[in-house]
Amino acid sequence: MIKPGGTIGILGGGQLGRMLAISAAQLGYRVIAYAPAGEAVIAQVCNEYIAADWHDADALKAFADACDVVTLEFENVPAAPLDAIADKLAPHPRALAIAQDRLAEKRFVADLGGTPAPFHAVDSRADLLAGIEALGTPAILKTRRDGYDGKGQWRIGSREEAEALDLPDTPCILEGFVQFECEFSVILARRADGTVAFWESSQNGHEDGILARSTLPGAAIIGQQVSEARKLAKAVADKLDYVGVLTLEFFASESGPIFNEMAPRAHNSGHWTIEGAATSQFENQVRAICGLPLGDTRRVAPRVVMENVIGPAAATAHEALADPAAHLHLYGKTDSPEGRKMGHITRLEWPEGDTSS
Ligand code: AMP
Repeated sequence: MIKPGGTIGILGGGQLGRMLAISAAQLGYRVIAYAPAGEAVIAQVCNEYIAADWHDADALKAFADACDVVTLEFENVPAAPLDAIADKLAPHPRALAIAQDRLAEKRFVADLGGTPAPFHAVDSRADLLAGIEALGTPAILKTRRDGYDGKGQWRIGSREEAEALDLPDTPCILEGFVQFECEFSVILARRADGTVAFWESSQNGHEDGILARSTLPGAAIIGQQVSEARKLAKAVADKLDYVGVLTLEFFASESGPIFNEMAPRAHNSGHWTIEGAATSQFENQVRAICGLPLGDTRRVAPRVVMENVIGPAAATAHEALADPAAHLHLYGKTDSPEGRKMGHITRLEWPEGDTSS
C-alpha cells in the first residue's frame, strides 16, 4: 500500500491526467507528470511536471525512481522504453502494447472468446482489396496505431473507392461496418489482488467520430448485453494481471455485444462518474494503483448525462451553469479548434417534483 504523502507518476499530460491528479491530491498523494514538451494541462494541477521525450531512457528512469507507482493517462506512450520501469508501472506495459495496436487488441479479445468487428490486416493495396472482397462494403479502414477521436479512419463505400483511396503509409486494419443499435463501454477498476469493480455502462453517442454524450441509464439493449461484455472485460483484465482502470468499448448489435476497442486507462465515457457515481473512475484508479480498497461505483442520481464541450464552444461554456444541475469541467487548454475536447458538463437529473436533492 502506498502511504499518504507518497508519489504517483503519471505518463501523459492531458485532461485525463489532470482529473486523475486532482483525485490523487484528494487522497493525499503527490503527483509528478511526465510528457513531451507541449501544452500539458496536467501541469496546472500537479506537484511537478517533467517535459521529456518518451524515448529519453535517463529521464524516464529518474522519473520512475522519484515515484512510488507510475500510471498512465495516454495509451500511445511508446511501450518498449517502459519495459525498463515496468516494476513501477500499473498497468503493466504489456497491456499498453496490446491496446495501442487495433489488430493486436482484436486478436487478443477474440482469443478470449469475444467478438470483435470483422477485420482484415492491411499492409498494401492488395490486402485492402482482399479485405473488401472478404468483408464487403461499407467498411472502415483504420490505422493500427495512433488513431483517436475518428482520426486515422476512412469510410469506404465501394471497391472503386478502395482502388482510388490514397493509402496511408502505415499498417492498417479494415473493419466491416457493424450495424448497431447503440454504443456502450465497460469501465472497470482492478486491484493487484484481482478485486474488480464495474461502473454502470453509459450509452455513448458519437458525432463526427468523437464522443458527444454519455447517458445513464442507457437503452434497454445495453442492460441485456452488459453481463456478456463485462465477462469479456474481466477476462481481459485477469489475463493481463491488470492493475488500474480499463475500458472496453462495444457496439450493441442484434447478435450481441461487438467489441470495438480498448483503452488501458480512464475513459471519456466515464467522466460522468465524477459527480454521477459514489466513486469516480479517477479516484478508483488512484485507489487501485496504491493498493487501497476500491470505492462504491453505484450511480447516485436517477438520470445522469455527460456532454463534451468541443472546440470554440468552450468560450461560452460557463453559461451551462445557469442550470443548477450542471457540473462544468474545463481542462485549461488555451487553443480551442474545432474537434478538440475542451471540457465536459455532467447533469444529475431528478424527476420533476422530487425535492430530495
Ligand atoms: P473508434 O475510434 O474505432 O472508436 O471509432 C470511432 C467511432 O466510429 C465509433 O465509436 C463508431 O461510432 C464508429 N465506428 C468505428 N468503427 C466502426 C465499425 N466497424 N462499424 C460501425 N461504426 C464504427
